[in-house]
Amino acid sequence: MQIDLRGQIVFLTGATSGIGVSVAHLLSQAGAAVALHYNTNERGAKALQKKTGNYSKIFQADLSNTNEAEKCFEAVISNYGKLDTLINNAGVYLRSPLDKQTTEWLESWHRTLTINLTSAGLLCKLAIPVFKRQGGGRIINIASRAAFRGDTDEYLAYAASKGGLVSLTRTIARAYGKNNIKAFIVAPGFVKTKMVKEFIQIHGKKSIIDELSLKKLTEPEDVAPAIVFLASGMMDHVTGNTIDINAGSYIR
Ligand code: NAD
Repeated sequence: MQIDLRGQIVFLTGATSGIGVSVAHLLSQAGAAVALHYNTNERGAKALQKKTGNYSKIFQADLSNTNEAEKCFEAVISNYGKLDTLINNAGVYLRSPLDKQTTEWLESWHRTLTINLTSAGLLCKLAIPVFKRQGGGRIINIASRAAFRGDTDEYLAYAASKGGLVSLTRTIARAYGKNNIKAFIVAPGFVKTKMVKEFIQIHGKKSIIDELSLKKLTEPEDVAPAIVFLASGMMDHVTGNTIDINAGSYIR
């Protein structure tokens, strides 16, 4: 069995770092044209574009700004003329303890919610009519174990944003299944990327490994295959489902 995504257009947000890079490589190996979204790392995006084949293109947007998110989506559609899969992967994990001043705490809350949930929701809102016109499509939203198990008190906004993303995805799956639109949730536990660098610095690697059933911390390469498998269409009948990838740290 081989995953064949030739002729398929996949819009991947947050492509230039961590899980995104791994997903971009696997998608292009399977033949997909990947619309590689980036925020500030233009050099990284160009390098990734070179490595991911002739059909990949790069698209810039700061997803803390919903106007930029919308323009970016429109640019993808006008460049490729269609879209098969949207992967909402970009996200932030901002530490925000309760002893912060309220104004500062709220700033962090709003930023987290805007990037992780509002822009992702907007991209879904924009993709659904395109999918309807085309006769179908897939949405893969990268949530988190935090949405189901909860996180620490320093990451209330993060957990809330990912919980929202889960409900959003399930609702899309229920509402648009008959339009042949499938929506999936991927919920990683700790993954060794720059996102969790600060957490590891503060809490130490051991505390994370102690939570796992498996020996080793999850790497982006452990997460990417499931995302590409969902994009392949071979899992379409599980629409609305969640795939947990957490080294057995939260089995439910
Ligand atoms: P990462 O920090 O390596 O990548 C995050 C990506 O989001 C980057 O490409 C970054 O450019 C993009 N991004 C951040 N702010 C942005 C903004 N304002 N506008 C546009 N793009 C922006 O982290 P990662 O671990 O690869 O995270 C990928 C996804 O996986 C995220 O949604 C994250 O919440 C989720 N996740 C990660 C972990 C983990 O432990 N690393 C655990 C659960 C879920």
